[in-house]
Amino acid sequence: MQTIAFIGLGHMGGPMAANLLKAGYAVRAFDLSQASLDAIVAAGGTRAASAQDAVAGAQVVISMLPASQHVEGLYLDGKLIESILPGTLVMDCSTIAPESARKVHAVAAARGIPMIDAPVSGGTAGAAAGTLTFIVGGEVANLERARPILEKMGKNIFHAGGAGAGQVAKICNNMLLAIHMIGTSEALSLGVANGLDPKVLSDIMRVSSGGNWSLEKYNPWPGVMENVPASREYEGGFGVDLMLKDLGLAMEAAMASKSATLLGGVARNLYAMHSGRGNGKKDFSSIQQLIEKMP
Ligand code: NAD
Repeated sequence: MQTIAFIGLGHMGGPMAANLLKAGYAVRAFDLSQASLDAIVAAGGTRAASAQDAVAGAQVVISMLPASQHVEGLYLDGKLIESILPGTLVMDCSTIAPESARKVHAVAAARGIPMIDAPVSGGTAGAAAGTLTFIVGGEVANLERARPILEKMGKNIFHAGGAGAGQVAKICNNMLLAIHMIGTSEALSLGVANGLDPKVLSDIMRVSSGGNWSLEKYNPWPGVMENVPASREYEGGFGVDLMLKDLGLAMEAAMASKSATLLGGVARNLYAMHSGRGNGKKDFSSIQQLIEKMP
């Protein structure tokens, strides 16, 4: 049985690791949060005392951390890469700056450690259901080695290009997600302010030309859809501060390539305002509340 070291068991990493356990892999888990570790131990995983302890004897290492500084902090500043044996497959599924991903890839490659960046799309529901989309950057041979494991956690697997390309594609996707979540919130607010029922309006737009993923899977208006963050006071899900981070990454990429990203810029500012008002930990669909409070 292959042993997988899994580092970062938050909203996404926890259910992803649980799916690997269900598929019969041995999972050695490490997280700074004991509560997250307790949950994965209850699901059949092994608690590691540190990241170094987690990778000892593992054939595969997966990380699912918040941002670039955590990934560079773990592998490079924290020197975890030096504890990983050559030939061990490393997959970082966090959404981070393409430059950070390339930095870690380069250090790994120099030590004979194959690596892919494999950020995901599909949200916490996709992580729990094992239906995530993996957007992979790195060598095709490394993706092929990872594929049987990725298939236990997701249903769509794309090769975006070389090292860091998975992150570039993910950043573009999330900029578009932020824009259509804000647009959806604005349309719902407008309809309700003019006497419409938000559920009726959502049903209409979902199958009309305004249809999009936010309407289909993640309605931001409380009570319209069951089992989404909006219907549990915007708890769980994908945090406002994580979306703000991704929009910052999109703006950095736009600067580097002199790309015009007008709506992406507005989206970043709206999420910054929303976070600045104390909503950083809420789910990103809570942008509906900001739109509601606009003059
Ligand atoms: P999260 O904050 O819920 O989980 C991150 C986990 O990493 C936490 O449990 C934290 O304790 C742990 N951690 C941080 N530093 C660590 C370290 N040095 N060693 C060990 N553990 C450490 O975040 P999440 O929602 O699971 O998101 C993880 C990544 O996935 C982010 O990059 C995010 O942008 C991306 N993502 C999230 C979603 C979503 O819907 N939540 C969807 C797609 C992609």
